[in-house]
Amino acid sequence: MKTLLVGVLLILAGCSASKQETPPSAIVFEGAQLIADGKTAQENSAFVVDNGKITSIGTKGSVAAPAGAPHVDLTGKTVIPALVDTHTHLGWAIIKTGRIGPDTYTKDNLIDHLHRLAYYGVAATQSMGIDPGETPYEVRANPVPDAALFHTAGRGMGRPNAGPGQPYWKPVAYAIDSEADGRKAVQELADKKVDWVKIWVDDRNGTVPKLTPPLYRAIIDEAHKHDLRVVAHIYYLADAKELLRAGIDGFAHGVRDKDIDDEFMKLMKDRPNVFVIPNLPDIGTGLQDPAWLSETVPPAEVKRLTDTFQNRSPADVKKATEFFAVQARNLKKLNDAGVRIGFGTDSGVTVGWTDHEELTDMVTAGMTPAQVLTAATKTSAEIMKLDQLGTVAAGKSADFIVLDANPLDNITNTRKIAKVYLRGKEVDRAGLKATFVGP
Ligand SMILES: [Zn+2]
Repeated sequence: MKTLLVGVLLILAGCSASKQETPPSAIVFEGAQLIADGKTAQENSAFVVDNGKITSIGTKGSVAAPAGAPHVDLTGKTVIPALVDTHTHLGWAIIKTGRIGPDTYTKDNLIDHLHRLAYYGVAATQSMGIDPGETPYEVRANPVPDAALFHTAGRGMGRPNAGPGQPYWKPVAYAIDSEADGRKAVQELADKKVDWVKIWVDDRNGTVPKLTPPLYRAIIDEAHKHDLRVVAHIYYLADAKELLRAGIDGFAHGVRDKDIDDEFMKLMKDRPNVFVIPNLPDIGTGLQDPAWLSETVPPAEVKRLTDTFQNRSPADVKKATEFFAVQARNLKKLNDAGVRIGFGTDSGVTVGWTDHEELTDMVTAGMTPAQVLTAATKTSAEIMKLDQLGTVAAGKSADFIVLDANPLDNITNTRKIAKVYLRGKEVDRAGLKATFVGP
């Protein structure tokens, strides 16, 4: 025992001796306004990043850093934690060409999308139920530099031919026709260690059958037995209520058909851990800031998206405005009641850019910029059980965005990105941009 201890001490001594000879790996970031928890700005901040982590934090001149560590002057800048997007659909769209189809899902595509998220300051994302094969699990297990971390629900569940939007996504989803189907699917997903189980409870405007309460009760029960959470795509208030009674863990959308009522609020209050990812639709005014989108999406695709909005009839614009308004009222009501609000975009082609549009839309809905930043960082990291993300604090992973202006003054300032750091390394935004829109 004594010999062993001496051996350990010698090894420790050896480590510290060699460490003194090499230059310090730590970097001091100082002078920025720091919005460490998404809430309040601290003037003249300083924090030390070493080996991918934040090792200490305080005010300029007061933080302990190894002698010789380089200092990065962030005077005039604002630092916020990197964003966390809990609802995306990645790997399908070939964004460079605008093509999407049955044959387009690839690992390269998925990684391209994770790079795009990183470019726009997103540190991690949760893919929501249309991930085929082994690729999503491979990518989850092997994080890529300059790319967001990836979580997956694998294959989600709906009634046969009634799941996700595109026809070629339907075979990816499990077709659930009995409680036994549901339990079997959950068992398969548990073997894959999915991050959560996704279900679609929606009749798509009366065109397809919905997962029935007995079916989703069996799915939720089986998932909970395997220590898995279930997150539901919903549309109707009545389904949201029934899902709460059945033990649902989170909603991938807000209620969209009508204003939420007291009964719903009571059910939410009884289940304080249930989270809502608002996933707001467009506000009716069209594409926000298409010039910024052009940094990552080719001109033809930006034009197609812009035209889609511009060519709408006045009736369609009115419909879109009303559709936003009901969801905005519902979000404000939930937020005012202290419900756990997450952050997600449901995005494909405009992945990453959409995150900033969503931040703005949530403020338009009536949340404060501070509340929205907290939802998109701290709360979403908690929802995804990514303890190392969501705040800028000692011991956390060094994932943060350097902005040219303060988003607490105006939420669109999140678009003024100077730099993004993920896991302690500056993301090569210029290099990525060349691959997004270059030849
Ligand atoms: Zn979705």
